[in-house]
Amino acid sequence: MYCLQIYCGKRSPTIKLVPGRGISREALDTHLVNQACRCGADFLQQVTASVGTAEGGVRRLQIRSSQGAFDLEAGLVLVADGLNGRSLTQTNCAGVEVADRSYIGVSSILQSDQCQATAETIHMSVGRQGYFGIVQVEDRKWSMAAALNPMFVKASGGASDAIKVIAREAGFGEIGKIDAVSWRGTPQLSRRRPAIAAERMLVLGDAAGYVEPFTGEGMSWAFAAAQAVQDASRATGEQWDPCIESWWTKTYRRHIARRQRICRITRQVLRRPWLASALACAMTTMPRSSSYLIQRVGRPSDTNFQTRLKPWGAA
Ligand SMILES: Cc1cc2nc3c(=O)[nH]c(=O)nc-3n(C[C@H](O)[C@H](O)[C@H](O)COP(=O)(O)OP(=O)(O)OC[C@H]3O[C@@H](n4cnc5c(N)ncnc54)[C@H](O)[C@@H]3O)c2cc1C
Repeated sequence: MYCLQIYCGKRSPTIKLVPGRGISREALDTHLVNQACRCGADFLQQVTASVGTAEGGVRRLQIRSSQGAFDLEAGLVLVADGLNGRSLTQTNCAGVEVADRSYIGVSSILQSDQCQATAETIHMSVGRQGYFGIVQVEDRKWSMAAALNPMFVKASGGASDAIKVIAREAGFGEIGKIDAVSWRGTPQLSRRRPAIAAERMLVLGDAAGYVEPFTGEGMSWAFAAAQAVQDASRATGEQWDPCIESWWTKTYRRHIARRQRICRITRQVLRRPWLASALACAMTTMPRSSSYLIQRVGRPSDTNFQTRLKPWGAA
């Protein structure tokens, strides 16, 4: 059985999930790159892209690596460079709005003999200054991820100490030997990008906006956006139709940003410990209803983007 166990003070409800398994970011990324190359993509490693101007029927890109720099041009550039969105700094889509009291993210991998948690369970510890999740992935390693108040991390002397306090406060107990772990950090997580489209350029994934990792939906939002954007890439020829920009902004807001509502509500609940505790209590007393609701979060999109009328397709 695959479960989610939430530790939240006195309560630690266990919620049954659909069958699944944990997979590390490294394994997922390798699989995605292999699939993309099999479908004809050229994958450039260890390079930094920077989006330039649109002129003469193309959008320019500058690619930099330790060996030097070169330019590329494309009929359409899809920008999915994550939270930082650094490749966009020279474009009209550079601006980002970061939410007040936004957490930062950290993640790492722990060796199997250092962890006491049970396999086939996502263990989620919720504290007043953030939350921490741990799950077993391939090779019996453990994937750890947390969203933390940046001030609390600073005051605690680092991510490992902040996470230990949260796990203890939540009732999860001791995690294991995490002092020597090196964490991969992110900037503040909760953000939105007001402009996500410009001539021959569309922004998607975390670069377009993100909430928080508690509901584990970031990948499904990014995949749904990738699915939705396909039609624009097919419609892009010599002529650029400016309708594509407003179409993408509307499609994104309607089909992706709307799916982030549950996560936004969860974010508000998690900032109020008394409410999180009351919810944990309700989950303990109603495990079947909780399980039903949680299984609906992050399920694949049932929107059939192919059947929707595109403005550039209408005569
Ligand atoms: C702590 C934490 C835990 C999470 N846990 C989960 C989870 O369990 N399940 C889930 O579904 N989601 C989870 N997420 C969210 C998920 O990681 C993201 O939503 C998802 O990775 C978004 O994909 P993306 O392709 O938009 O961005 P990313 O996955 O960030 O990929 C962006 C890529 O672009 C590259 N890049 C950046 N700048 C440039 C540049 N200038 N030129 C070239 N390349 C560039 C980066 O190196 C990176 O490889 C978590 C997030 C955090 C912070």
